[in-house]
Amino acid sequence: MTRAIISFDTELSAGLFQRGADARANFESSILGRCREGDFGISFQMDMLERHGLKGVYFVDPMPALVYGPSVIRDIVAPIVARGHEVQLHIHTEWLAFARFNPVGKLTGRNIGDFPLAAQKKLIGLARDMLVRAGAPTPTAFRAGNFGATDDTLRALAALGFRYDSSFNAAYVGQGCGIGLDSKNMGMRDHHGVVEVPVSGLMERAGRFRPAQLCAMSQEEMRDALDHAARRGAVQFSAFSHSFELLSRDREAPNGLAITRMDALCRAVAEDPRLSSGGFADLAPPPGAPAPITVPGPRPLRTWRRVAQQAWGHLRHEVGYIRSIIYVTLNTSRWGKVAGGVLLAMA
Ligand SMILES: [Zn+2]
Repeated sequence: MTRAIISFDTELSAGLFQRGADARANFESSILGRCREGDFGISFQMDMLERHGLKGVYFVDPMPALVYGPSVIRDIVAPIVARGHEVQLHIHTEWLAFARFNPVGKLTGRNIGDFPLAAQKKLIGLARDMLVRAGAPTPTAFRAGNFGATDDTLRALAALGFRYDSSFNAAYVGQGCGIGLDSKNMGMRDHHGVVEVPVSGLMERAGRFRPAQLCAMSQEEMRDALDHAARRGAVQFSAFSHSFELLSRDREAPNGLAITRMDALCRAVAEDPRLSSGGFADLAPPPGAPAPITVPGPRPLRTWRRVAQQAWGHLRHEVGYIRSIIYVTLNTSRWGKVAGGVLLAMA
């Protein structure tokens, strides 16, 4: 049985804070996913999970407590715990730059992996304590903001008693994610004292990994990736999203395409007898000598269908639609690439 972990990075926006949003406004946009049409954040997500009989994992970032105070984190954690979904730890160290109190002195950084080991340990320990004080059970799993973890992050987690890390995302390797694992292996395995649970995905073309993220993968790609994991007998398949990902990029409207994709993902997990739903609490241990779980190979037509579908989504929901059409044309055919080269040369 392959455990399908559907997780949501659940976080207030440092960008909104910088633009003057107070805790309430930030909470309504980033967590409740509120727009004119209604709420499309964590409550909406939990409704959908529960309609399909599934359990989700919410990686909650408690660092905004250093800026806004602790009560907003309690407001995030309470409904997730009350409804029986899992709360685990997420961290965005960007908030340290705005904090009145910085537990690591003058050190700041975009990613947890930017900090020396001792400071990482201190920050993750503090974040865990803030999360528990906000009403969460002691977290056993961790995900770095921006997937910006290093092997030292895993050492810090092991020293603090965490069992799982889920910060390894092959799309971010070399772009913040510095965990020294083979990105061609999606298997869950031990690494520096914790069990690494990589973000799943597939190759969209040779040398280019596409993560199993709601707004990044079509229904077809998600189904193929799920099926691949189940057929290989993988312990887990890990898909992720954000608390605000069912909104359009400008957060002004619901993102119909993302909502449809989430519903399709939930249905695929619920209807497949090879898959179980849940989080880390009762996750099976990694096999003693794990065989590598390969990344599904590219299928150009499948990639083209997703790009075309997303372009249509952009056309309907977002402003930069002309660029999307050009993107489809330029990226999906040889003549498109030639035309793109000519256009670029003329520009
Ligand atoms: Zn995040």
